[in-house]
Amino acid sequence: MTQTFKNYIGGKWQDASSGKTFPNYNPATGELLGYFPLSDQDDVHAAVTAARTAFEKWRLVPAPKRGEILYRVGELLIRHKEELARLMTQEMGKVLKETQGDVQEGIDMAYYMGGEGRRLFGYSVPVELPNKSGVAMRDPIGVVGCITPWNFPIAIPTWKMFPALVAGNTIVLKPAEDTPHCALRLVELLYEAGLPEGVVNIVFGPGNPTGEALIHHPDVAVISFTGSTETGRHVAVEAAQSLKRVSLEMGGKNAVIVMEDADLDLAVEGILWSAYGTSGQRCTACSRLLVHRSVQEALLEKLVPRIERLRLGNGLDEQTDVGPLINEKQLQKVHAYTEIGQAEGATLVTGGEITRGGDLAKGHFYRPTLFKHVRPDMRIAQEEIFGPTLSVIAIDSLEEAIAVNNNIKYGLSSAIYTQNINRVQQATRDLATGIIYINSGTTGAEIQFPFGGTRGTGNGHREAGLAGLDVFTEWKVVYNDYSGRLQKAQIDE
Ligand code: ADP
Repeated sequence: MTQTFKNYIGGKWQDASSGKTFPNYNPATGELLGYFPLSDQDDVHAAVTAARTAFEKWRLVPAPKRGEILYRVGELLIRHKEELARLMTQEMGKVLKETQGDVQEGIDMAYYMGGEGRRLFGYSVPVELPNKSGVAMRDPIGVVGCITPWNFPIAIPTWKMFPALVAGNTIVLKPAEDTPHCALRLVELLYEAGLPEGVVNIVFGPGNPTGEALIHHPDVAVISFTGSTETGRHVAVEAAQSLKRVSLEMGGKNAVIVMEDADLDLAVEGILWSAYGTSGQRCTACSRLLVHRSVQEALLEKLVPRIERLRLGNGLDEQTDVGPLINEKQLQKVHAYTEIGQAEGATLVTGGEITRGGDLAKGHFYRPTLFKHVRPDMRIAQEEIFGPTLSVIAIDSLEEAIAVNNNIKYGLSSAIYTQNINRVQQATRDLATGIIYINSGTTGAEIQFPFGGTRGTGNGHREAGLAGLDVFTEWKVVYNDYSGRLQKAQIDE
């Protein structure tokens, strides 16, 4: 019998108050994996209330103790890495190696933020009056609403929850409707590690009504969102009504630049991994290849056969290189972009089709796709496709490559292949993205650095690294005057 799962609110497993559920499917096989509660305003209100209540105690737990719980979460994630990776592959399709990597990011974040329990650095600096001191410290903010996508179903919730938790906030997590089970297992492990009840609450459901209820709830102080730029903009506008702090991590249209002096074999590896890994469904995925005209054909001669050899299939099969897309809607969207590219006059070199044959018949599989003769202003070169589609644009100089790279509404990640140190310096200075890779592809961020991007990719915040704490803490400054008399700052005596 198909299992029906529940929300976890205030330490209790609960159905949606309406009794409604939604199904969860395996994108590779079409298999029904379970039903999850379709939560509405009432369920979200219950979760926020539980989080609000838990906050008053959790904020008083010494940060090193909060950090110790995260260390135990890290240990549990290690112990359950394989189980979680398999669950994730079944739920969202990417291959086991990548789902293991996804869990590993959660492990890394658990230890990193666990360590912050004994740091959470503020600072003390000299003050201008005698017998007085000043210290700036980080305070938790309150209830954090985490709205997460399906492409990194463990990693992204940990990126949001672990810094928020170590800083003393409490949480309502609304995971993507395509990957509810991974989020549920993560929350179970948090409690197994000793988290007090009510500190993390999980409500399942779609953007509307579940996400909407969260962004509009007056007792939610912070919204940390990862998803599409369109939805993120809506979240920011709506949450602004109640002056919530909103951190947005959104789309990308990331480019790999290959100069004429590049190691082409190395570039091929980086392009394959960052363009077709996770079937292109990463916000850092490479979807534009800006290649120097003089090496374009040589590069494509090496690259195209490798793309054609990528094996599509169920991610649980070790032979598989590329899993399915997340759902039918996304499959249709990716294919629509193939038609758009052809209509715009780009040349389809390989791929460009939905695969319906044999073992793949029931899944959402799309052939890894490459277009050449793409102009920078074409829609396939400007819009986020979120699929295995790579657009090749010929460039004649580094300056042109940088201009094309930057002339886009997103600014997450970029990469350059060159052996020339001066070009590296120039590219590092001028590529206007939040992340730059030298001689590797556009993916592979590590959790100890700030993650995020410029322009339409974000709204100025960063996740991960020390910068990740800023979203979840409020600065509090304490002046302590021990002079025993009224001292006036800035006033001439
Ligand atoms: P994707 O295209 O990656 O699914 P979305 O931006 O639609 O990106 O979804 C990312 C997350 O935002 C998901 O958890 C989704 O349910 C949620 N979401 C979608 N629409 C809304 C909304 N109107 N309000 C709040 N959350 C939403």
